[in-house]
This record gives sequence, structure tokens and C-alpha cells, in this order.
Amino acid sequence: MTSIQSNLQAVRRRLAAAAAAAGRDPAGIVLLAVSKTWPAASIREAVAAGQHAYGENYVQEAVHKIAELQDCALEWHFIGPLQSNKTRLAALNFDWVHSVDRLRIAERLSEQRPGSRAPLNVCIQVNVSGEQSKSGVAPGEVAELAARVRELPRLRLRGLMAIPEPSRDASVLRARFAVLRAVRDELNASGMGMDTLSMGMSDDLELAIAEGSTMIRVGSAIFGNRVRAGGAA
Ligand SMILES: *Cc1c(COP(=O)(O)O)cnc(C)c1O
Repeated sequence: MTSIQSNLQAVRRRLAAAAAAAGRDPAGIVLLAVSKTWPAASIREAVAAGQHAYGENYVQEAVHKIAELQDCALEWHFIGPLQSNKTRLAALNFDWVHSVDRLRIAERLSEQRPGSRAPLNVCIQVNVSGEQSKSGVAPGEVAELAARVRELPRLRLRGLMAIPEPSRDASVLRARFAVLRAVRDELNASGMGMDTLSMGMSDDLELAIAEGSTMIRVGSAIFGNRVRAGGAA
């Protein structure tokens, strides 16, 4: 077994233990392997260990890997910031986009999603950390954006995504995840029918699962520490 494969097993054990601690069915929590900056060869190691869904942050980088790995029939999630000039490539190549934070981006994704493919699954990114984070919609503005996104014909609104500001304080992180869950519950009470809470990463997946995460996005705990943080879009 390679180190990626044993890391993957360890993450799956963490997921299962966190689900058990929260009294939840682990089958209700999808593991996304965040493969940004890692080559197709690393992804193939994870594929061989049964990992199906991958998260990428940089459109251009991802497009090459998606083409290289076409034989594996994987599920691709775009989780990074999305500029309008990259929406076409995202709409052509991904199964999900987690980072919709304005109507213009959603409209472009819908217009550019090929008719030959299933509607693009999207999440609205919510800023759960207030002034400490710039990306995402304020919790109070999600309802309006969600209502508009839901009308777009080639998108399917699945849920909400958040990246809390880094903190060593578990209670702060947990409170941020609770905000996302509360916004989702409120919107679902008005009939939105969202099934996805995309929250939790290598360092905080247990807290996110305790607060109801249905999709954790795990990079370094699977692939190791990134060689280049950041990287070109
Ligand atoms: C890089 C990244 C992750 C994974 O982070 P790790 O700490 O490496 O698990 C998850 N979500 C987003 C949006 C990211 O950019």
C-alpha cells in the first residue's frame, strides 16, 4: 500500500469515528479528495484505493488532469474561487462547483453548461467568518441568491459551502459550521430542498461532521503537504 492509500484509509476511519460520535450514518458523508497541485499519478493511487470524487482549485490545472484521467470516470468538484473568464472551462469539465458567490457567475455557468451533460451541481459559498474572510456571500444574502440560482435551467442547487477562517479554537470553528447549517435549515424550511453542506477539511473534519457536514474536502491528510501553496489559476 502506498502512503496515499494508507492516508486515505486513516481519513476514512476519522470520518467513520466522527459520524459514530455524532450518531450519524457515515454513508451520508461524502469524502472529496482535494488533489490541487498533485499530479494525475497521485490521483491514480487514490483511485486504486476506491476514491471516486476529487476537488480542484485551479481550473486550468484541473482540466489537464481531468483529460488525463478520463479512463477512470471520476467525479470532479471545483472548490476554488471562480473568475468569470474561467466559467466556460468549469461548466465544460466539472460535475460540481462549490464556490458560487454571485449571480453573474451562476448565470454564466448555466449558459455555458453543455446540453449533452447533466445540469451542473452547485453550492453557494457562504462567508461564515464575517470580516475575517472575503470570499462568500453574507449569511443574510444567501436566500436571495439561492432563489435566483434555483431558476437557472442548467444548474442544480445542491447546498452551501464554507471555509471558516483558520483558528486553533475548536469552539470558534464549530460555531462557524453551525452558522452554515442554520442557514441551510432556514432555507430548507422555506422549501429549498438542499441536500449538501460542504464543510470540513484535514484539520477540522470532525467538528464539521458534528455540525452536520455532508461533504468533507480533504487534501493534505490524504496527499501530504502541498509542495507549492497557492499556485497559478
Ligand atoms: C485546499 C482546500 C481544501 C483542503 O484543505 P486541507 O487542509 O489540505 O485538507 C479544502 N477546501 C478548499 C476550498 C481548499 O482550497
